[in-house]
Amino acid sequence: MARAAVPGRLTWRVGTLAEARAETPTARTLVLDVPGWPGHLPGQHVDVRLTAEDGYSTQRSYSIAAPADGERVELTIQAVPDGEVSPYLTEVFSPGDPVELRGPVGGWFVWRTTAMDPVLLVGGGSGIVPLMAMIRARRAAGSRVPFRLIYSVRTPDDVYYADELRRRARDDAGLDVTFAYTREVPDGWPHPPRRVGVADVNTNGWPPALTPDCFVCGPTGFVETVADILVALGHDPRRVRTERFGPTGG
Ligand SMILES: Cc1cc2nc3c(=O)[nH]c(=O)nc-3n(C[C@H](O)[C@H](O)[C@H](O)COP(=O)(O)OP(=O)(O)OC[C@H]3O[C@@H](n4cnc5c(N)ncnc54)[C@H](O)[C@@H]3O)c2cc1C
Repeated sequence: MARAAVPGRLTWRVGTLAEARAETPTARTLVLDVPGWPGHLPGQHVDVRLTAEDGYSTQRSYSIAAPADGERVELTIQAVPDGEVSPYLTEVFSPGDPVELRGPVGGWFVWRTTAMDPVLLVGGGSGIVPLMAMIRARRAAGSRVPFRLIYSVRTPDDVYYADELRRRARDDAGLDVTFAYTREVPDGWPHPPRRVGVADVNTNGWPPALTPDCFVCGPTGFVETVADILVALGHDPRRVRTERFGPTGG
């Protein structure tokens, strides 16, 4: 496993779609079989490369949604309207189809199951994906490290892994989950839609004195806002790890 975080050994591998499931009306989880997959750490991502019949090829980064499990790699993709890659992966890509993958990538935005400090996860939209890998890895390893998740979504229908999160918040001792809705709230919600702000992070995060490891992931603006809030609240910037889901490609 230690090798998984070492850069410079990445080769393209061909994976096959084993299974797909809808997470929301516009997001889909892909379970890929990738022969020779070396394993990965929670928080890492892969590069996915698609090549057309005429040889045109393009690649995008996608976080891995689940902890290492043999040669299986799980991704969750949000369809970006008019996007080049994500609509294909969410609407066209079918079981048995091949795709090229390279990874695992990234050695900083990772949580190790041997870590002992409390963890704050703050995710916006599809930014939940690598955080979910950490939540799942915590459970799989039997870790007792206290975890708090603040998950910002537009509407209740946009929540990824909704049933599993509800179940884990109930059954995984030491895991707290708080939702923030930016456009539409569930019936009976105590306040109108709003973006995550200082009060949310202060109330639902950890005090800086507990020296939590903070992981913030989502669209660039969301990540920068939340990281600034954490630092303003007194968290050590070296403990605030960020992953921006801005456009990638080439
Ligand atoms: C490290 C990393 C991990 C990522 N992990 C995930 C993941 O787990 N799940 C996931 O769904 N995406 C993830 N992304 C985003 C992903 O790489 C692509 O950017 C996204 O799928 C859009 O690609 P596309 O080809 O469909 O759109 P493009 O053809 O590249 O872009 C189409 C239009 O959408 C805009 N756009 C592109 N990307 C985004 C975006 N992310 N949000 C909003 N607008 C965008 C572009 O500016 C452009 O106007 C990750 C990005 C990074 C850098």
